[in-house]
Amino acid sequence: MTTATTRSPVDHGPDWHACLAEAIRCPEELIRRLDLPDDLLPAARRAARDFPLMVTESFLSRIQPGDPQDPLLRQILPLDCELESHPEFVRDAVGDSVARREPGLIHKYSGRALLIATGTCAIHCRYCFRRHYDYHQDPRRLVEWQAAMHQLRADPTIEEVILSGGDPLMLTDRRLCELIALIEEIPHVRRLRIHTRLPIVLPQRVDDDLQSVLCATRLQIVLVVHANHERELSRECGEALVRLTRDHGLVFNQAVLLRDVNDTADAQVALCERLIALRVIPYYLHQLDRVAGVGHFEVGDDRARKIMAEMRCRLPGYAVPRLVREVAGAAHKVPLA
Ligand SMILES: *Cc1c(COP(=O)(O)O)cnc(C)c1O
Ligand code: SF4
Repeated sequence: MTTATTRSPVDHGPDWHACLAEAIRCPEELIRRLDLPDDLLPAARRAARDFPLMVTESFLSRIQPGDPQDPLLRQILPLDCELESHPEFVRDAVGDSVARREPGLIHKYSGRALLIATGTCAIHCRYCFRRHYDYHQDPRRLVEWQAAMHQLRADPTIEEVILSGGDPLMLTDRRLCELIALIEEIPHVRRLRIHTRLPIVLPQRVDDDLQSVLCATRLQIVLVVHANHERELSRECGEALVRLTRDHGLVFNQAVLLRDVNDTADAQVALCERLIALRVIPYYLHQLDRVAGVGHFEVGDDRARKIMAEMRCRLPGYAVPRLVREVAGAAHKVPLA
């Protein structure tokens, strides 16, 4: 039953817009709420100027207070080392700008085209590969999608459209519906893939209205969520993911291999086991994209391969993700192990 403000089915609490409005953006508040040492504050302030701090209450509640090394905290706490420059870490590491065909449209791989549906997210992941991406050049209003839609229509090889961002589920249901309606009109597009971290960081987003939007399209829905650590998959996330798998079947996870967050076989095995318990297939384990400001998260390829080898010994085959790197100009994500 839909009322004026749909309540979250997850905990029957406030709706997702209200939850998003509560997100923490102030370094002082983060440090105070998590009982962290005050000396982290000046650096957090400095690094947040470049790429602001943002974290939902839901994600915050899964962080262990008082522990500066918490693997979830490390994903969101701005640090001074983000401001160091390394020549190999650049602003556009994955070649997005050359693969940009029209405003909002990135086409790199055969059969699949990606739309930058929005520049906003509910959480700012410090390692984000699009942390320097200039979202201002991409469509915000529906009419601005015309050129991208024209290009998709003109290329009959494109069977799958991927909504990315930012986080495409940051769009309101109405905006999402309108965008899906444009894509649906293109006869050769069969699948709509949604790359989103919202079911993980703002599980309230997976409400009845969203489920109705996703069930109303003729397009086959494929969801790819993004969790890096077992502890991100709280009970609320689990419920959101089970709803998604129940209605859409195909739900995958991509994770990024991050130093001091999930760079052990134990952490990866625990993540994959928890995902499988929620019926989510571990899809990719990404080697970090070398964008400026993220060098401190990097894990070497040899170590990454060792972790993978141990995962293969400990997990059923279907629970082992593929270790990949995105190489600018390559025809697909490049497997490393
Ligand atoms: C990663 C990516 C895809 C999807 O690749 P898959 O290997 O099919 O998951 C598509 N387009 C772009 C631009 C991408 O970066
Ligand atoms: S949710 Fe995705 S796009 Fe948004 S900050 Fe995190 S990694 Fe980047």
